[in-house]
Amino acid sequence: MADTHLQLPVSILKGIGPETESSLATMGIGTIEDLFEYFPYRYEDYRLKDLAESGHEEKITVEGKVQSEPSLMYFGRKKSKLTIKVLVGRYLIKAIFFNQPYLKSKIHLNDIVTITGKWDRHKQTITGTEFKSGPNQRESDFEPVYSIKGSITVKSLRKYIQQALNDYGHEIKENMPMSLKEKYKLEDRGTALRTMHFPQSPDEVKAARRRFVYEEFLFFQLKMQALRKYEREQSRGTPQNYDLKRLKEFISSLPFPLTDAQKRVVNEICADLKSPFRMNRLLQGDVGSGKTVVAAIALMATVTAGYQGSLMVPTEILAEQHAESLYNLLAPTGLTVALLTSSVKGKKRRELLDRLQNGEIDILIGTHALIQEEVVFKSLGLVITDEQHRFGVEQRRVLREKGESPDVLFMTATPIPRTLAITVFGEMDVSIIDEMPAGRKTIETYWAKKEMLDRVLAMVEKEMDMGRQAYVICPLIEESEKLDLQNVIDVYDMLSVHFNGKHRTGLMHGKLSSDEKEQVMKAFSQNEVQLLVSTTVVEVGVNVPNATIMMIYDAERFGLAQLHQLRGRVGRGSEQSYCILLANPKTEIGKERMRIMTETNDGFVLSEKDLELRGPGDFFGRKQSGVPEFKVADMVHDYRALETARQDAKQLIESKVFWVDPEYAQLRTYLESTGVLDGEKLD
Ligand code: ADP
Ligand code: MG
Repeated sequence: MADTHLQLPVSILKGIGPETESSLATMGIGTIEDLFEYFPYRYEDYRLKDLAESGHEEKITVEGKVQSEPSLMYFGRKKSKLTIKVLVGRYLIKAIFFNQPYLKSKIHLNDIVTITGKWDRHKQTITGTEFKSGPNQRESDFEPVYSIKGSITVKSLRKYIQQALNDYGHEIKENMPMSLKEKYKLEDRGTALRTMHFPQSPDEVKAARRRFVYEEFLFFQLKMQALRKYEREQSRGTPQNYDLKRLKEFISSLPFPLTDAQKRVVNEICADLKSPFRMNRLLQGDVGSGKTVVAAIALMATVTAGYQGSLMVPTEILAEQHAESLYNLLAPTGLTVALLTSSVKGKKRRELLDRLQNGEIDILIGTHALIQEEVVFKSLGLVITDEQHRFGVEQRRVLREKGESPDVLFMTATPIPRTLAITVFGEMDVSIIDEMPAGRKTIETYWAKKEMLDRVLAMVEKEMDMGRQAYVICPLIEESEKLDLQNVIDVYDMLSVHFNGKHRTGLMHGKLSSDEKEQVMKAFSQNEVQLLVSTTVVEVGVNVPNATIMMIYDAERFGLAQLHQLRGRVGRGSEQSYCILLANPKTEIGKERMRIMTETNDGFVLSEKDLELRGPGDFFGRKQSGVPEFKVADMVHDYRALETARQDAKQLIESKVFWVDPEYAQLRTYLESTGVLDGEKLD
């Protein structure tokens, strides 16, 4: 039966016994195919470099003639520095080797030597990491570097791969349809695989890599698009025939006209509501772009169609805030809006749940805990969740499968870079509000060192003297919660004294009871308190338009997305607003973040930068973020290929030929193997 050895265990190779096999297993290599697809994570370039063309701090290999006897210096017992002069082409340079005293006996005047190391252009010095006597002669000038574990060495791994390629390389099958292969001039799978492991030049690697990047993205996107199709068509929703006239009346009763972007996304959402398919949509928009009113319109539409709606948010404070804004927006239209939090207890809670169940409540707002257990709707038509980007595809699915399969709209509080949006949320439809309401002033952002605290406080005071309010934000992160809590209390004490008699201060953090939180927020929104010292609990949603200045302590401890989100708490009224980042960052990345914050107010630009600085795995700030891992492809750098693959996958999945043409048999087999077609599993 088996016409291929690719699925057989690596132990069929010569020299792989149980110990090696188990070491390989820890590297995720079980079969011959796994071995083939265990790609190098980078390549060492040993080709000789022309010094005139070498950049500062570049790692290079040079060949030259020794011009001085090596001089060796010791520092203490273990540390040493060996220096020689070498003539490389026309350049007389210095080569330094740290802690390799044994090299002294190997280096002689007038020897030809080959040195690999880091080039310092200014000092004309190479700090050597590798030394070879004689001219540059290697098996290959361009060597793959693999990550290895256990008893495996790069050398042994290469040997196994070589052997496997010799014996079974001819069995590697093409898995790409001819049409796409030709369209993008992709290399054969077999050829590309060989090149990845045994390349002659960077150009060769580039071509091979290009093939695998596309392959990985295409397969991934096929899965996502198939899932999207499945979710739309198999999980039928109910067409919601909303009352367009009432909806239009509501929209024209708003105190402002919708922006074009808001109109567009409202249309997209309404089309979903009306369609017989279930909505599975992601709504993205920058801080302050006006997502709340879009949510209100969508909820209103559902209610006029005879259903109930629900809005779920991550925290109770937010739930309260949203409840208030939705109440203000929707109550005049006669809709019943209710808030359910953990502080609604006993009889009141039972009453509320009863009214929900018999349909007296139109819209229910609460935390994510809402969707669980006791809460029963009469006829839930639409669920909107805020800030869902922390959940992976699996969690979203659990949410969608709860209850009576309502339409689902996910809102993210901060923009997500497009590359991540189409991978992490690849199975969803996406609506983007890419325009701010007219007349917004950009928030002026400054970065100040902590030594300048007095001047910053003077600025804060000036704003308050003019009748405005201020936020002071202190970090509170999980690992050092106790210490940070002390920090926010200290800052509060300090500022209370500082502004004593002139302006009132309030303190806000997650350890307060919900009653206390509510009181503080109320006092701040009614301007009884002018300065609010808080942890990041005010991060999302909070809306106090009279607040015009925000100072963020230890700003370097926050990610860009979070800083931007925090900053979005000011600049909500008509006055010029300010954000001051108080930070003495120690790392380059920290400094870069501060600079970027002062340079742009655009959340989409910031999120792209954040992705570059942090990498995809860390973007959402936790591991369980649902960001897929690719073997070769890099979402950030290969975003064009990702975009292309997505388009292609979408077209394929939506076309009729894809499901019947032999050309696509391989891709169909792959999709079947993932279980996506039956809505079974995702990874
Ligand atoms: P976010 O997208 O951050 O949730 P909000 O929905 O809180 O933004 O909106 C921010 C502010 O902008 C609110 O005060 C809201 O009333 C106002 N707003 C929303 N849409 C418009 C618009 N089209 N024109 C003017 N102001 C608007
Ligand atoms: Mg909001």
